[in-house]
Amino acid sequence: MSGFSTLMIHGRPNLPDAHGALRMPIYDNVAFEFGSSRDIQLAFEGRKPAHSYTRISNPTVEFLEQRLAAASGAMGCVATASGMAAISALVLALGGAGSRVVASRYLFGNTASLLEGTLKPWGLETAWVDMGDLAAVEAALKPGACMLFLESISNPQQQVADLKALSGLAQAAGVPLVVDTTVTPPVGYKPKDLGVDVEVLSTTKFISGGATSMGGAILDLGSFDWKQSPKLAPWAAQAGPLALLAALRREVHRNLGGCLSPHNASLQALGLETLELRVRAAAANALAVARFLEGQPKVLGVNYPGLESHPQHGLARAQFGGLFGGILSFSLADRPACYRLMDQLALIRRATNINDNKTLIIHPASTIFSEFPPLARQQQGVPEGLLRLSLGIENAPDLVDDLAQALEVL
Ligand code: PLP
Repeated sequence: MSGFSTLMIHGRPNLPDAHGALRMPIYDNVAFEFGSSRDIQLAFEGRKPAHSYTRISNPTVEFLEQRLAAASGAMGCVATASGMAAISALVLALGGAGSRVVASRYLFGNTASLLEGTLKPWGLETAWVDMGDLAAVEAALKPGACMLFLESISNPQQQVADLKALSGLAQAAGVPLVVDTTVTPPVGYKPKDLGVDVEVLSTTKFISGGATSMGGAILDLGSFDWKQSPKLAPWAAQAGPLALLAALRREVHRNLGGCLSPHNASLQALGLETLELRVRAAAANALAVARFLEGQPKVLGVNYPGLESHPQHGLARAQFGGLFGGILSFSLADRPACYRLMDQLALIRRATNINDNKTLIIHPASTIFSEFPPLARQQQGVPEGLLRLSLGIENAPDLVDDLAQALEVL
């Protein structure tokens, strides 16, 4: 099986279903019984693979984990309750008081808030850098750094960084390159080939199959030697290359309790079956709408890596297999102009999600980034006149018509 969709549709679970069900059944239960006290001990010691309690693992969730790992060619996967649960568990597995995350200054607002607001008081520092400035990244990767962290295409700024170059810097510093690949599922490219060590993502978006359910995942791509991580070196001594996955499953993710519900895992496994179709359709819509917006005099700028005018267009093409994602952002004169346009839209929905089947629009400065003061928002690349459009899989002419009629009222 070499085609992405074939693999997502026909990949089989590790153990065949007792009744030969063609879709993995939903194991909607909490606990699993053992034949003997010895067996339950071995399971708890991690010496005999078995499900014991759904917060830790579950057959339906494991099926999704196997599919996600196969999609990326990852060594293993831990699925979580949401993208934020995945990011939180990963950061807490790799860092702690006295260590430093080297993070892109262009991150999803809640991720920035997690690092700056929630974790800073616990002693974890974040160095905010522009991932396009390799010298600044290299300087920030000094001793104490626990991970280099960015989004494959930053949301909503649409910055694309040179992942191979960043991987070289991370390797030289002995820290893992962690990429939030939420907006670029591995259709047509493999993050592993770009030097990414760990993927972290929200499966709520493209993977859920149309905003059906919350979920997240951490994927270890198998390239990082965990003996180099001060936090994970003790796990590496026990579990070797599986150190990160073992630390998550047997401590951090287990203890934080952000487990994915089996029902959501089932919805998301179904979502994977149509992922390639939807990613390609959304990317085609994004390009068509970006080109339309670029030609509009009231639109001051359009950020979409698929446009030849985007500063990292060539890099994005080389990295993501000719697909540029389903999100774009564009600028109008100011916040009132953004509100007027949004309120005039008839088809496109005003909502805070991305990579839904429906096209969604939001004003990031007054919503996702509203907890940050205006100066911080400027540095985060979220000015007052910016709108984010997440393209769905509708017919492009209908989206263009809706935007055209709304632009007329400006
Ligand atoms: N990462 C990115 C790039 C996102 O856009 C989001 C949510 O919008 C998340 C992570 C968080 O995902 P979730 O909403 O599933 O917690």
